[in-house]
Amino acid sequence: MNPQCARCGKVVYPTEKVNCLDKYWHKGCFHCEVCKMALNMNNYKGYEKKPYCNATRAVCSETVTLLEQIAHLALLGAWTFTL
Ligand SMILES: [Zn+2]
Ligand SMILES: [Zn+2]
Repeated sequence: MNPQCARCGKVVYPTEKVNCLDKYWHKGCFHCEVCKMALNMNNYKGYEKKPYCNATRAVCSETVTLLEQIAHLALLGAWTFTL
């Protein structure tokens, strides 16, 4: 029984399988969420179970940092929604 790709939902066969972020991906489907750059096991940056490239992580670091802070606050139960 082959797993399904986290990106496209189609069956992933062993020859094209990438196992990252607790999911399976086609090699071709494992690309950066933002810029679509092809990634591999060695150069991806995982965030919220989605793959990003180093460059996008750097460019978006302010946004990502904010999201991470919110996530941490939520985990600590200290997050109060004050919009
Ligand atoms: Zn796929
Ligand atoms: Zn990217």
